[in-house]
Parts: sequence; structure tokens; C-alpha cells
Amino acid sequence: MKLLHKRIIKDGVVLPGNILKVDSFLNHQIDVELLIEIGNEFKKRFDKKKITKVLTVEASGIAVATVTAINFKVPVVFAKKDHSHNQDSQLYESEAYSFTKKQPYVMKVSKKYITSVDTVLIIDDFLANGEAVKALIDICHQAKCQIAGVGIVIEKTFQPGRGKIENYNLHIESLARISKMDNGQVTFL
Ligand code: 5GP
Repeated sequence: MKLLHKRIIKDGVVLPGNILKVDSFLNHQIDVELLIEIGNEFKKRFDKKKITKVLTVEASGIAVATVTAINFKVPVVFAKKDHSHNQDSQLYESEAYSFTKKQPYVMKVSKKYITSVDTVLIIDDFLANGEAVKALIDICHQAKCQIAGVGIVIEKTFQPGRGKIENYNLHIESLARISKMDNGQVTFL
């Protein structure tokens, strides 16, 4: 997706530890016009599927999932990371290891919101080691729903995420695929 490539080149900042900072347009301050284009692109790429829910994880997946779900006219469900007192007691849970925080966490989704009748599109902002997407797939397996595919805004192809997700034989679409981040420079595949 050319518009996204251009924006990453212009405003993305490469941090130590293979982290790309995109918080001026994607996950802190949000460029809504760019996000709408991202949602439209996911609609095109998954248009043949009869999607009933878009599933993501808080916090940075929510905006992207929302602009995507608008196009499919379906709800967004986001996995929660923290335990809250008003949370449902009937939960799907799956553990993942956080790439940015370097610690494990448990994703939780109420059993009310994903069920066996659903066809779910999984969306996230980044694919790095594949932990977040794997946990979302695990939640879908617990719910016995169909998975329409996995949509990623920025994939770092030099990290093992795609390899892990390909084992599930799912339709994966990434809008920007970064093959290298050397000396502060981003190279696309
Ligand atoms: P994974 O679970 O694939 O290892 O990492 C994906 C999750 O970690 C995403 O939900 C995203 O929030 C975060 N993440 C991974 N790599 C990056 C990165 O380079 N930059 C930012 N901002 N977040 C990342």
C-alpha cells in the first residue's frame, strides 16, 4: 500500500530492538484519513469472505479494526489484556508474550461476543513474532468459529511471525512488509 509506505518512510522512527515507532500517525496520534484508507484496503483484500466480526487486541489494534469493520458493517471485538472487576466470568483466555513490553500477558474475550456461528477477521497493527495473532487464533479455536483471515498493517518479515501464522493455513494480508530496518532506514519487501 503505497500511501502507507510513504508515511512510514516520512514519519516512522526505527528504535533499538527492531521496534518501529509509528505513534505520530498510527498508534498514539492517529491520522484518521490514512486509517480510513487502511480500512478500505482491508475491505478490498478480504471482500470475498462473509465476515461477521472483526477481532483485535487492545489498545493499538482497535482503531484499525474499527475502520475495517465499518466497511463490512460488522462489530469489532477486542481482546482485553487487564483483568477488570466488571469483566464477564465466561471468558476465552490465551497467553501471549508482549514484543514491546517483554513480558507475558493473558488476552481475554467474553464468550458472548465470539461464537461458533461467527466468521472472524483478525486484525492487528504489527506482526513481529506472531504472539498476538497466535493468541487471537487460539481464542477463535476455543470459540469454534471460522477464521476469514489475518490482516496486518505493518509486518516485519525479518521476524518469525509470518512463519508461525502460515502453519495455520490462513489467508494473511499485510499492507506494508518491512524486510530490513538498518541504520534507521526502513526497506520494504
Ligand atoms: P508479535 O505478537 O507479533 O510479536 O507483536 C505484535 C504486537 O506487538 C502488536 O500488537 C504491536 O502492538 C506490538 N509490536 C510489535 N512490533 C512492533 C513495532 O515494531 N512497533 C510497535 N509500535 N509495536 C510493535
